[in-house]
Amino acid sequence: MDLFEYQARDLFEQHGVPVLRGIVATTPEEARAAAEELGTDVVVVKAQVKVGGRGKAGGVKLARSPEEAEERARAILGMDIKGHTVNAVMIAEGADIADEYYFSLLLDRAHRTYLAMFSVEGGVDIETLAEERPEALVRRPVDPRVGLDEATARAIAEEADFPEQLRDELVRVLVLLGDVYREADATLVEVNPLVRTGDDRIVALDGKVTLDDNATFRHPERAGLVDEAAMDPLELRAREKHLNYVKLDGEVGIIGNGAGLVMSTLDVVAYAGEDLPGSPSPANFLDIGGGASAQVMAEGLDIILSDPKVEVVFVNVFGGITACSEVAKGIRGALEQIGDKATKPIVVRLDGNAVDIGREILAEYDHPLVTVVATMDEAARTAAERASEALVASGSSGAGARGSTDGEGEN
Ligand code: GDP
Ligand code: MN
Repeated sequence: MDLFEYQARDLFEQHGVPVLRGIVATTPEEARAAAEELGTDVVVVKAQVKVGGRGKAGGVKLARSPEEAEERARAILGMDIKGHTVNAVMIAEGADIADEYYFSLLLDRAHRTYLAMFSVEGGVDIETLAEERPEALVRRPVDPRVGLDEATARAIAEEADFPEQLRDELVRVLVLLGDVYREADATLVEVNPLVRTGDDRIVALDGKVTLDDNATFRHPERAGLVDEAAMDPLELRAREKHLNYVKLDGEVGIIGNGAGLVMSTLDVVAYAGEDLPGSPSPANFLDIGGGASAQVMAEGLDIILSDPKVEVVFVNVFGGITACSEVAKGIRGALEQIGDKATKPIVVRLDGNAVDIGREILAEYDHPLVTVVATMDEAARTAAERASEALVASGSSGAGARGSTDGEGEN
């Protein structure tokens, strides 16, 4: 999970990293009151969106009075920055910037280590710097078992040729940022710019933090951080039902048991749909897990059918702990609940534990929307064909928006 800048600022402050005061505002009036409260000659009005380059996009503006802060906030609130709507601004104390530096500490998956990066040429677009003047960017692996200790921080400062009279202070701040990284279970802590002020203080002026979601269980204090507004509404609903659901862009809804089976189902469906008109692809990932009950099956189906893009559902179950009879009852139960509103075909492939009873239940139920197919490949083909036909009929073939998982990327 990415944090907003103001959340990163708070986290830094909790760990003793020098930051400037900042107050969040969601209306121009609140922005004015915040500027009055800060009471500094200059404040900065900063868009709170989880995307970089706010400055260039006009989302970071100086204001010299509370009235001006209000005006600036009025202009920035509601702005669209790279597809993110600005719902809040942070009113921060203005800094007297003498120098801007860059610092980041991140999880370097490719090298199975942490990587610290530092440059005395901060405030700029770091990708550009890394490309055009790689020698200006110090890169140093950090042993995850040790973290960013003083020796490493000092070596970074030396290699970057950081002014000697402020080196001790820089080292102190880098070690604190290393503490933030470790104690918050972050996969990224980036400060751009880290600045030297006119009175020779080192201050983190902008913070970008990504927390490792796998560590959420040991941070009960994070419950309030979850950015529900930024979550897909279907994913949110699935999470409330404890379902393992990821929304994708395609038209074939997919339910299976076991992450491995569901992943391969996504592949088989994508492959089957590739060359068909409209190129149908998977609409989601949904793993109902082992031993899923009819109830879970029904909840899963309900969520998938709530996705307006879905044209067909493919239920692919290999019964191990999960009994196919339960799956069949779940499909029947879901269709009974949904009633006449069910309009999408459901292709079912069942195999394994209690498969005969499962197929029998569906045969007896004899619902016009349900087709039982014997093998996974054949079922994938059938599902993709149905989706393709629906796309052609609705005239949206050729749109060709292919699904892809919204992976973690490489930061
Ligand atoms: P970003 O564009 O999303 O990275 O937003 P930043 O918070 O990094 O702000 C962009 C730039 O605005 C910084 O690199 C600074 O040059 C400038 N800036 C931000 N805060 C202040 C401030 O308090 N005083 C001054 N003079 N400039 C600031
Ligand atoms: Mn920045």
